[in-house]
Amino acid sequence: MTDYPSLHMLIGGETIDGGGRATGEVINPATGEILGHVPFATPADLDAALGNADRGFRIWRATPAEKRAKVLQDAAALLRQRAGDIAQMMTREQGKPLAEATGEAIYSAMLFEFYAGECKRSYGRMLVRPAASRAEVRYEPVGPVAAFAPWNFPAINVARKVGGPIAAGCSVIVKPSEETPAAGLAVVQALLDAGCPPEVCQVVFGVPDTVSRHLLASPIIRKLSFTGSTAIGKHLAKLAAEDMKRTTMELGGHGPVLVFADSDVDKVLDTMVATKYRNAGQVCVSPTRFVVEDSIYDRFRDGFIARAKAIKVGNGLEDGVQMGPMANARGTEGLATKIADAVAKGARLDTGGERIGNQGFFYAPTVLSDIPLDAEIMNEEPFGPVALLNAYAGEDAMIAEANRLPYGLAAYAWTQDPVRRRRLADQIEAGMIALNGAGVSAVDAPFGGVKWSGHGSEDGAEGVAACMVVKTVHES
Ligand code: NAD
Repeated sequence: MTDYPSLHMLIGGETIDGGGRATGEVINPATGEILGHVPFATPADLDAALGNADRGFRIWRATPAEKRAKVLQDAAALLRQRAGDIAQMMTREQGKPLAEATGEAIYSAMLFEFYAGECKRSYGRMLVRPAASRAEVRYEPVGPVAAFAPWNFPAINVARKVGGPIAAGCSVIVKPSEETPAAGLAVVQALLDAGCPPEVCQVVFGVPDTVSRHLLASPIIRKLSFTGSTAIGKHLAKLAAEDMKRTTMELGGHGPVLVFADSDVDKVLDTMVATKYRNAGQVCVSPTRFVVEDSIYDRFRDGFIARAKAIKVGNGLEDGVQMGPMANARGTEGLATKIADAVAKGARLDTGGERIGNQGFFYAPTVLSDIPLDAEIMNEEPFGPVALLNAYAGEDAMIAEANRLPYGLAAYAWTQDPVRRRRLADQIEAGMIALNGAGVSAVDAPFGGVKWSGHGSEDGAEGVAACMVVKTVHES
């Protein structure tokens, strides 16, 4: 097995490790073992990173698109070569099964490949004007970006955070999660090994609030990019507003899944149960509220429970494991509190609802049904392996439930009726909708939410556009 790597920051190409700095423990959520210590940036480290980012931006914005594309393309090739090692470290620091971790490393490479192509497709336009005059609309890189990535997808989140800015011609300082530092470091290392100037892409760690306040207080940073909870997103958006910095906010969700009586129930169950428990439910687009038409509710619930009980839970490094532990103790504790609240308010606990063993943070795949709408779990993102099942009488009631919450990230709906599918696409308030499927993410498709789930997109052409500003040049 690959050793868990030593941990460091990457500031101006220098490998900065302990050196008397405060550190944070990285814990294997399957075993509780301490894997390593991540160094925390001092104020001087952060100032050094800011100075580099300022210089890096001037270098990178003047670098031809073909060169930027080549760096992303070569970094993607390195990520593909290194995917096996990256997956091992990811499973150990985050818990997800090795197959999911390997897929994540490959998907990070695919993101870079897509962004490499987009470097060369950032066009402006000419406006029609009388002869000898013209007006030109130009897209220019916004400037140095400060990006904060969470722990649930340690590689993809970092690849998303740096890919758009690098394609656009920006520099970026990224703070991966201190709980899952190694996979994100490996993503940035691939860029540096592929020839990305070291001032253009840097990695820092620290106490999140200290790092974000320091970076966002600097006029050098022109954009904030954050993925995480809505509460922290609102806090960071306020800090960014002090300096009118641009923002991309990818926040929490509470994904509704509308299942109509005319759908193929077994296919829905086979697809959505696997999707629900992927990454132990710690996915911002996780299917969470199952909004089931009443005539098929009992059959759907029975099928769901049977499939949830059959999921093999264990250490993600072991063969055949379908669900690993939750990533941290906050996760299991928060989930247990929400489940207890729902049961106390009258919900049925159909399966799960408890930790497995006393080593690491394993939690049983859980199904709750007939849950009162005032239960906390029906209103706040559970971010864990729990499915919430309720019966509804027909389309209007089901759409109303989908739109009941202030969140609007991913939504899912299953129906054989094509006209109804159009109505659902029109009426469901979400940034991404999957109709008769589970996929809401693709490298060429904008990824992001509406309402409290945030604003702006990552991935797709929109992911690069979000790192650009518009300038119109009127020439007489
Ligand atoms: P949290 O709100 O404390 O942290 C979420 C993420 O934000 C973490 O990666 C954390 O390091 C970072 N963060 C926290 N405070 C920050 C600050 N002041 N500046 C910069 N970054 C900061 O919650 P948590 O316990 O780590 O995760 C649980 C909740 O977070 C979930 O319920 C979910 O809503 C949300 N979350 C969402 C995503 C997503 O993909 N949208 C990913 C992870 C967590």
